[in-house]
Amino acid sequence: MQPTKLWASLNGAQVQCRLCAHQCVIKNGGKGLCKTRVNQQGSLVSVLSDLVSGVQMDPVEKKPLYHFLPGTKTFSIGSVGCNFSCRFCQNAHISVIPASGRVQGSRTSAKGLVDLALSKHAASIAFTYNEPTLSVDLIHETCQRALAYQLPVLLVSNGYMSAEFCKLLRNDIRAVNIDLKSFREAFYREYCGAKLAPVLDSLKRVRDLGWWLEVTTLVIPGVNDSPEELADCARFICEELGPDVPWHLSAFHGAHKMQNHPATPLDKLQEGWAIGKEMGLHYVYMGNIMTTLGGNTYCPKCSGLVIERSPCKVTYPPKGRCPSCGTEIAGIWA
Ligand code: SF4
Repeated sequence: MQPTKLWASLNGAQVQCRLCAHQCVIKNGGKGLCKTRVNQQGSLVSVLSDLVSGVQMDPVEKKPLYHFLPGTKTFSIGSVGCNFSCRFCQNAHISVIPASGRVQGSRTSAKGLVDLALSKHAASIAFTYNEPTLSVDLIHETCQRALAYQLPVLLVSNGYMSAEFCKLLRNDIRAVNIDLKSFREAFYREYCGAKLAPVLDSLKRVRDLGWWLEVTTLVIPGVNDSPEELADCARFICEELGPDVPWHLSAFHGAHKMQNHPATPLDKLQEGWAIGKEMGLHYVYMGNIMTTLGGNTYCPKCSGLVIERSPCKVTYPPKGRCPSCGTEIAGIWA
């Protein structure tokens, strides 16, 4: 295997991985926390490199990205593994690498992926389903090819990517959805095996890079759904990232180690929606639940309907302006 990107040699054939905020120090023959990066005699290799677990065409709204080329399809690529260990993971079948370390998937290439995306007339390519940061080599190469065809590349991430990762891809990524899973250190530690502060740093870094940014919070009843915590999330987004950053409140349904935990009721998401608006956010959405209005975009100035989203169609105004008052709606439009 070829050495991967973003690591440094240390004394005694140890290496430090610089891909994510864990910054694992890995001894010879060992693996990082994510089990995808292996120290082979003082050189760090990735067991993923060009491995994918699946590809499919998705509405870009499914990522969710609501202000990035709405109504278009994105060629979605997943691999395996994660640098978090979320108890509530909804994709554990691909994110959890078994103790044997064996990874399952198909080998591919950046050229093969871009050719396939073009043949399907995708408007973009999204690295999604598992934590994309771990596929840094494939993402980097795919970006180089995709940009030659003006095909934007998107990420759906937990936000634990390092500053070095962002620097490497600073001119390559067009949009990202990052999870803000909670505003409590204890939650990140106990439920995800991670820390809050690096996620907040990534969110600010991504905003500074100019990648189009949307934020998702999975609201879990009795765990991270207090009005105080939701207000903390909304306040951070509004004050540190800006009121135009869309906030997606997503309903939890039992999964992985929280299979029997109750699902999020609609009134809890509605409470979060109201808190987000009260904090000053222009665009707050409810997802992963049946709701008639929670997916629509309304003008922050006149409250008129700007984008109507239903399972069957997305209607949006030309040039990203409110059809009623002409106010510019933040986002990347066709
Ligand atoms: S990607 Fe993160 S978890 Fe994996 S080896 Fe590198 S620093 Fe550790």
